[in-house]
Amino acid sequence: MLIKGLSTLQKIEKIELSTNFPIGPVNVYVLFGEKLTLIDTGLNRELAWKELNNGLLKLGLNLNDIEQIVLTHHHNDHTAMIDWILEENPSIQVFAHQDTEMILKDEDYLEWSSQFFEKLFLEFGLTKEMAYKWAYRKGDRDRYDYLNVNRTLSDGDFVPGLPNWKVIETLGHSQDHISLYNEKEQLFICGDNIIQGIHAGIFLDAPKRGKERSKPLLQYLDNLEKCRKLNVQLTFSGHGPNIENLNEAIDSQLGNIENRAQRVIRTLEKANGVASGFEIIQEMYRGRYENAVITFVFEIVAVLDLLQKRNVVVAEKANGVYQYRLVNYKTTSNKIV
Ligand SMILES: [Zn+2]
Repeated sequence: MLIKGLSTLQKIEKIELSTNFPIGPVNVYVLFGEKLTLIDTGLNRELAWKELNNGLLKLGLNLNDIEQIVLTHHHNDHTAMIDWILEENPSIQVFAHQDTEMILKDEDYLEWSSQFFEKLFLEFGLTKEMAYKWAYRKGDRDRYDYLNVNRTLSDGDFVPGLPNWKVIETLGHSQDHISLYNEKEQLFICGDNIIQGIHAGIFLDAPKRGKERSKPLLQYLDNLEKCRKLNVQLTFSGHGPNIENLNEAIDSQLGNIENRAQRVIRTLEKANGVASGFEIIQEMYRGRYENAVITFVFEIVAVLDLLQKRNVVVAEKANGVYQYRLVNYKTTSNKIV
């Protein structure tokens, strides 16, 4: 078993690339399949560019040897350097999730996305100024000159040029997240879906124009159970070390999610059982939220989706802002009094 693992490991090489994100470096992987494949590309920074080229050089490769790229999801730390790579080697084939509007930064989608988030932020209780600032900032990102998605991937597809590597759609971290599973070798490349020792970042993405948004934490919980059923010896993450015990890492994510849910309940109890989303954030993350409100909005929206599904919280709109009310608060409060 171990020998089998070792022989396979020689076919996957990790290259760590610097980012200026709090999470630290991002991992990209070189897969020696029928086609030489790069999984993710890193952030477009000079240092990361050097690190990628040096990393390839150590493997006896350069960018002209890369035949295809698979993107796990659209976040900049996984995709942004792709333009530099394609400028150097335009013959590379790019594969990504079937919903490409986020990766391709489709203009119509970004415009709608900003409108969608401005409304969501206002309903969550952010001030008009904050809602506008954060909603329109999100759409204001560098566009790509060279990127094309040559082929889209759906759940259950096998990746061309990578025999035995199957696509597993793993939504929650983003709405275009895919992981790759090799059942034969019991290997899993999971992007940002599960990161050892770091709680799962749950982000909101705007739905397609005119559609309802997804509930990313509910998707994520389903997706963790889906991953638990896989037979995996070794998992390669988008950040941090390889995961040797996937089920343990899944349990740790579930524990974090429950802790956050309990913290939101306690915060609502402190507020007499009812508060807007922004009031919850102000109470939970006082002194910390100001520079990254959007991250906390995503996190708390997601937890409130879960608490509503469990019938612990109901949302009622008053003057355009949702008030989240604990369903059983009265009973609790009477007991205390
Ligand atoms: Zn990500």
